Amino acid sequence: MTRSAETPQKSWIETAPDCDFPIQNLPFGIFRTSDRSARPGIAIGDYIVDLSALFQANLLNVRGIIASVLTQPYLNDLISLGKNTTNGIRERVRDLLDENNPDVRDNLNLRERVLVRRSTAEMQVPVQIGDYTDFYSSIDHATNVGTMFRDPNNALLPNWKHLPVGYHGRASSIVVSGTPIRRPKGQQMPEGAEAPVFGPTRQLDFELEVAFVTGKSTDLGQSIPTEKAEDYIFGLLLFDDLSARDIQKWEYVPLGPFLAKNFGSVISPWIVTLEALEPFRVKGADQDPAVLPYLEFEGKKNYDIQLEVAIQPAGGNPHVVSKSNVRHLYWNMCQQLAHQTVNGCNINVGDLYASGTISGPDPGSYGSMLEIAWKGTKPVKIPGFGERKFIDDGDVIIMRGWAQGKGYRVGFGECRCEILPAIT
Ligand code: CA
Repeated sequence: MTRSAETPQKSWIETAPDCDFPIQNLPFGIFRTSDRSARPGIAIGDYIVDLSALFQANLLNVRGIIASVLTQPYLNDLISLGKNTTNGIRERVRDLLDENNPDVRDNLNLRERVLVRRSTAEMQVPVQIGDYTDFYSSIDHATNVGTMFRDPNNALLPNWKHLPVGYHGRASSIVVSGTPIRRPKGQQMPEGAEAPVFGPTRQLDFELEVAFVTGKSTDLGQSIPTEKAEDYIFGLLLFDDLSARDIQKWEYVPLGPFLAKNFGSVISPWIVTLEALEPFRVKGADQDPAVLPYLEFEGKKNYDIQLEVAIQPAGGNPHVVSKSNVRHLYWNMCQQLAHQTVNGCNINVGDLYASGTISGPDPGSYGSMLEIAWKGTKPVKIPGFGERKFIDDGDVIIMRGWAQGKGYRVGFGECRCEILPAIT
C-alpha cells in the first residue's frame, strides 16, 4: 500500500507523535520478563512483540528464519541470518501491526501471547559484543578538546582530516541503560603537584555518542569498501562513553585511553535498523582536504538524528544540558568501517563501533561536560541542585535520540546511567 508523506502509516497499537517506537521504527532488542526467558523482541509503542511467540503462532513465516535464534539471549545469531531475513521479519511485523490488519488485532488470546508491556520487561545488552571501537569523528569535539589541551591555533592534529581516528576499547564493560556505574578510582596528577595522587575521580564525564552494530563478518585480510559498508551495518544505538578526565589526562600519553574509559560504558537497549533511518539521510560535512581514494564515498551517508543529554540530580527532575545531532559528524559510518578494515582487520557480527563524542558548533550542542563547562570554567546551573563542572554522585545521565518524521519520530529510547559513589 502506498501512502503520501503527509499521512504516515499507523498501527492498531496507538503511539503518541513523540513516542520513540511507532510502526515506522520497529527496532530489535533482547528482553526478559518474570515468565519469559531473555529473547529477541521488537518495540512498538508501550509494547514489545515477542518474536518467538509470533513464530509459534505461525505468523512469522519469513524466508531464512530459524526458530532457535528467536529464544536466544543475544541477537547475534538472528542478525547473522542476514538483512534479507531480518528485514523480512521487520516487514512482516509491520504488516501485522498495521491498523487495518485484523490477524493479531482482533485476537485477544493471541495478543496476550505475542505482546509484552515494556514496563514489565527488563532489557538486556542486545548483542554479545566481541569487539568495540571508539572513533573520534566530530570535528567540533576534536577542535574543542585540542583548543583546551593543546593549541587553539592548531587544535586538530595533522592526521585528523585524513583518517577517522579511533582506538580499540573494552567490550565486556559495556552495560545496558539502567545499569548504575560506580565512580572509578585511579591515579591523577593534580595541577602543580609533584607526585600523582590516588582516589575517586573528581572529573567524571559523559560522552554523547551513537554506535553502530555490525551484521556481517569478514575474514582477516578482507577490506570493506565505503560503497559496501552499509551491507555490514545492522543498526544504531545510543552510546554513553563514561570518562574520568583527571585519570585520562595523566594516563593517556603515549598510548591513549585506558582506565579512564574501561570502567563502564552505557548503551540504549534497542537497535534501530539502518532501514528505519533511511528517510533521514543527509549529506554530512564537506571534507576538505580531499580524502584518500579508499575513504571516498558517494551520496548521503550521514543521518539527521537529534540528540539530547540531561542530568537528573538525586531527587530532582532531568535538566537538559546539551542538544546535538548526528549530522554534525565529519566522518560517516561507511568511512569508519572502510578505515577500520583497510589493513585487513576482520570484523564480526555484534561488534560495536562508536562515533566519538558528537558536538555541534554551538556551546548548547557540546557532547561532554568537559566542553559544556569548558574545563570547569563555565559551570552549568542545575536549578535547585547547585552547579556542575562534571557529574556528581547520585546524578543520573540521560541520553535520548530520535529522527523526526512528519507526525512521528524514529527514536532510540533512553540511555540512562546513575553514578554511584566510589567504594571506599
Ligand atoms: Ca569516546
